[in-house]
Amino acid sequence: MATLVYDFTQGNKDQKALLGGKGANLAEMTRLGLPVPPGFTITTDACREYLRTGTEPAGLADEVTAHLRRLERQMGRRLGDPDDPLLVSVRSGAAFSMPGMMETILDIGLNDRSVYGLAAQRGESEHSAWDSYRRLIEMFGRTVFGVDFDRARPSVDDPRELVASYQKVFREHTGREFPQDPREQLDLAVRAVFESWNSERATLYRRQERIPAHLGTAVNVMAMVFGNLGEDSGTGVAFTRDPATGERGVYGDYLQNAQGEDVVAGIRNTVPLQDLARLDPASYAELLHHMTVLENHYRDLCDIEFTIEHGKLWMLQTRVGKRTAAAAFVIASQLVDEGLIDLDEALARITGAQLAQLMFPAFEIRPGVRAIASGIGASPGAAVGRVAFDSGRATALAAGGDRVILVRRETNPDDLPGMIAAQGVLTSRGGKTSHAAVVARGMGKTCVCGAEELEVDAARRELTVGGRVVREADVLSIDGTSGKVYLGELPVAPSPVVRYFEGERAPATDRLVAAVHRMLTHADTRRRLGVRANADTGTDAARARRFGAEGVGLCRTEHMFLGDRRPLVERLILASDDRERELALAGLLPLQQADFEEIFRAMDGVPVTIRLLDPPLHEFLPSLEELAVKVGVAEALGKDPGSDLALLAAVRRMHEANPMLGLRGVRLGLVVPGLFAMQVRAIVRAAVAHRDAGGDPKAEIMVPLVGAVQELETVRAEAEKLVAELGDGLPVRIGTMIEVPRAALTAGEIAHAADFFSFGTNDLTQMGWGFSRDDVEGAFFSRYLELGIFGMSPFESIDRAGIGRMIRIAVDEGRAARPDLHIGVCGEHGGDPDSVRFFHEAGLDYVSCSPYRVPIARLEAGRAAVAGSASDTR
Ligand code: ADP
Ligand code: MG
Ligand code: MG
Repeated sequence: MATLVYDFTQGNKDQKALLGGKGANLAEMTRLGLPVPPGFTITTDACREYLRTGTEPAGLADEVTAHLRRLERQMGRRLGDPDDPLLVSVRSGAAFSMPGMMETILDIGLNDRSVYGLAAQRGESEHSAWDSYRRLIEMFGRTVFGVDFDRARPSVDDPRELVASYQKVFREHTGREFPQDPREQLDLAVRAVFESWNSERATLYRRQERIPAHLGTAVNVMAMVFGNLGEDSGTGVAFTRDPATGERGVYGDYLQNAQGEDVVAGIRNTVPLQDLARLDPASYAELLHHMTVLENHYRDLCDIEFTIEHGKLWMLQTRVGKRTAAAAFVIASQLVDEGLIDLDEALARITGAQLAQLMFPAFEIRPGVRAIASGIGASPGAAVGRVAFDSGRATALAAGGDRVILVRRETNPDDLPGMIAAQGVLTSRGGKTSHAAVVARGMGKTCVCGAEELEVDAARRELTVGGRVVREADVLSIDGTSGKVYLGELPVAPSPVVRYFEGERAPATDRLVAAVHRMLTHADTRRRLGVRANADTGTDAARARRFGAEGVGLCRTEHMFLGDRRPLVERLILASDDRERELALAGLLPLQQADFEEIFRAMDGVPVTIRLLDPPLHEFLPSLEELAVKVGVAEALGKDPGSDLALLAAVRRMHEANPMLGLRGVRLGLVVPGLFAMQVRAIVRAAVAHRDAGGDPKAEIMVPLVGAVQELETVRAEAEKLVAELGDGLPVRIGTMIEVPRAALTAGEIAHAADFFSFGTNDLTQMGWGFSRDDVEGAFFSRYLELGIFGMSPFESIDRAGIGRMIRIAVDEGRAARPDLHIGVCGEHGGDPDSVRFFHEAGLDYVSCSPYRVPIARLEAGRAAVAGSASDTR
């Protein structure tokens, strides 16, 4: 078997998989000559082996013994020595940071005899030895045997009596004495840390953070140092930059005369780290020096745990620190200025998801405003509304014009109407894959879930939190990014980053905006993918252009059929002869033409892809149920239902069991005479008008839902005729959506009739999986995510293995048939960070997404292009 134990002097920071993050970084600090208490790391291999077999791997005990002997020699003390004992900590540490999820046990090596030895060594602060012993019994008992010590916190002050009382509880709970053999303590502690990998909370955390379940944790055994030996001792945490804003400076907290866990647990009030300059100038100067060494070495923000024992500084932990989205941009840009990294590396260190966060409006938190609860930020945004405890109340409140927060213990498919009506959703149970989280993300609605402090009582229409009662119709504010819940209405501030994109703020106004500007500019120089926007109106198109879109990749024409144009559309659908139909179409034509002209103006000189009408016709007609009731009532009252009768007949005729798979897209165009021709006319006339006004229109006509090349050929022939007739030499490209699986699989044929392809990944995903998004997200997606059938909703992020495979086939066969074929994507995935990377790899020419996602797609396309040349660590 391979080596199972590494001394801190043997490893380095690149061995996270084997030594865990904590162990690898302790080794790295040791290598850099920083003052790290000596110790060793038991590998994740050993943990995996233990978890697989249920026993410690052969040879582990011997290796631990050898390293322990070495540690004892180095420290000049022996574990369990009654006169001057060596104490060690046993610390978990996985490859990925899982803060607070697993166990750490301090002060291993104390027993009824060595505690006297330690007390004697401690002289004046002898009580601290007893305090350490008490802590050991508590941590060890809780971690190894699950002992609940709450009962053992009597009013005794004498630490010796406390030890006795803790030992008694230990005995009562476990049926055995607290182990006096230090080696037994050590072995049981190591085993408990191994097992903490599979604790319920660690398992849940991993599932939510998508950390693989099989990795296991390493275990670090380290000589104890003591921050609780008086005024010249203490412990603290430090950041090399402000993890909230990225600002340079000294950030952290210090606690005099205390052990590290006291800071982490927030038991006592800390002082700002700067105060250490006064309390212990020498240690402070040394700490700042080490911080600089670490920053320069890791070339990134580091966070640090340290302890000072009688004026001697010890470094206990470091890692590349977590940071807010804003800090990530600012720090990346600063590090470039400081010459520590280049722009490519900076790009690798920020993500589209972080940029997306910065584009949401956020609450303005005034000093003194405190959250009443906090849960998991499951779907970002800042939502304010009145509380409703069930779906019915939510819809009712919303119908009355109120903004609503739907509050549930957990949601289920029956809550869908309420979720749609609400501004935001708040639950007290469940994580990122819960029903509430999945559905809210799908709808782009703010969601906080798993806010466990809330006791939700839907029957009594109230919730209790920290002794406070919130009743129906009270106002709450929820932050879907931080997961915080506030009482009352908090003011919402627009995102400075969005204001910059809108041209309302110069790049130099603040550090964050400047950093975003710089990163996007660099991404634009690197990316190979073009970025267009999905925009249906001149306003959207103009905004998209301000956000950096290089054209419109999808202009949906269906909205142009709604609103006050409905009567015309009804006339078209109900037309009983050609003349009536032509009249209706003639009425629609100038309206469509005006719409297109507006978009061509906003997108002058860049391509505009206009999709011919896609949705099923019944979407433009009144609902069957409502109409049937209306007619029924009229008839019962002996009144004449008038035109409603004909309408009802038509709606009945057009009713489809499965409209998503019915008469829509190209099928509709081939069935309703003159419909597509009217749209093509409107497009060509709009383009000609724009050109005649001195503009440069680049029109592209896109045919939806094609499954067979013959469909496209038929539409194309008619469209080409109209373009030749009306276009006066205007170049108009004609292409197709690839969104029916059959189209992807026959792309080689279809390419002969298409100037371009655009993947409609929503439909391709629905039809590829054989489920409709509207039905399945609410019904069973949360279960599927829980079971790990997929790691993320395939509507959020492209399913590479399945849907992605169809895309690759279509790209390869399409290009083989027609090398100049231009290929893009216009489904929702065009703005999803992971999917953008896939589209880059698959060799697409551009992605198209909603205007607000354009900057995210630009950034991710740039990141995809530099990936491989720079390391991507987050
Ligand atoms: P976590 O991973 O949850 O942060 P740690 O392993 O870092 O847990 O341990 C928790 C605290 O215990 C740390 O803040 C550290 O200060 C303290 N600690 C761990 N090992 C030692 C040690 N050898 N000497 C002194 N304090 C220690
Ligand atoms: Mg720690
Ligand atoms: Mg579609």
